[in-house]
Amino acid sequence: MRRIIAGNWKMNGLQAARAQALALAEGVAAATAAGTQLPRVVVCPPATLLADIARDLAGTAVETGGQDCHTGTSGAHTGDVSAQMLADAGARLVILGHSERRADHGEADALVAAKVTAALAAGLEAIVCVGETEAERDAGRAEAVVLGQLAGSLPEGVDPAAVTIAYEPVWAIGTGRTPTVADVAAMHGAIRAALVARFGAEAGGAVAILYGGSVKPSNAAELMAVADVNGALVGGASLKAGDFLPIVLA
Ligand code: PEP
Repeated sequence: MRRIIAGNWKMNGLQAARAQALALAEGVAAATAAGTQLPRVVVCPPATLLADIARDLAGTAVETGGQDCHTGTSGAHTGDVSAQMLADAGARLVILGHSERRADHGEADALVAAKVTAALAAGLEAIVCVGETEAERDAGRAEAVVLGQLAGSLPEGVDPAAVTIAYEPVWAIGTGRTPTVADVAAMHGAIRAALVARFGAEAGGAVAILYGGSVKPSNAAELMAVADVNGALVGGASLKAGDFLPIVLA
C-alpha cells in the first residue's frame, strides 16, 4: 500500500499559514523531480482555511483533509460541518475520532462510527484515530482499549479501502514522549491482526496504519521503519513546512 503522512493543524492557522502548505507542496514537487518515491502527503487545516488551501494546492501532489465532521449532511446543527461540506471545500479525507475530540467533546466509538459512515457517503476517506491513555497503559489495558475502539469506531459494512487507522497513544500527543519501538510494533501488529480478522487477509492487510504522537524530524525515520507502521499522523511538527517536509522524506 502507499504510505500516508498526514498533518493535523488542529485549531492553528490564520490566512498567513497558507504559505506553509504551499512551501510543503514545493518541497514535495522538488523531491519528486529528484526521483524520490514519496508517500501520500495530506494537510488537514482548520475548517476556515480548508477551501483556500485546497485551491492553493490544486494541481500539486499534496491533498487536503478535514479534522472532524458531523454525522448528517445538512440541517440545524449550529457550528458543525458536514462531510459533504468538507468534500465541497476540496477535502479528500477527514480525521475522525481524534483523542482531543473524544476527550473535549465526549465522542464515543458509536458516534465516530456514524461519522465514518457519513464521511464515506460523501466520498471522503476516513482516518480513524485510536489510542490509550497513560493510565490505561499503566494498567496493562492498552491493547484491549485500542482494539475495542477499533472495533467500535468502524461501522458495520464499512469499505476498508476507504479507511486508514491512526494509532495515537494519548500520552504521546504533544508531549514529546513516544512509545518504544517495541511497543509501537506490538500495537500495530495487534491492529493489523484485528483488521485481517475482520476484513480478510487481503483487504485487512491493505489498510494503512499510521503512528501518531510526537513524531518529529529526529524520530520519524526510526518510527516509520517499524513493521506495520505505514505512515504518520503529525500534529505540532506539521505546522511548519521546514519541520514537516523532513518527516515526509523520512
Ligand atoms: C495529533 O494530535 O494527531 C498528534 C500526533 O500531535 P503531535 O504530533 O503534536 O503529538
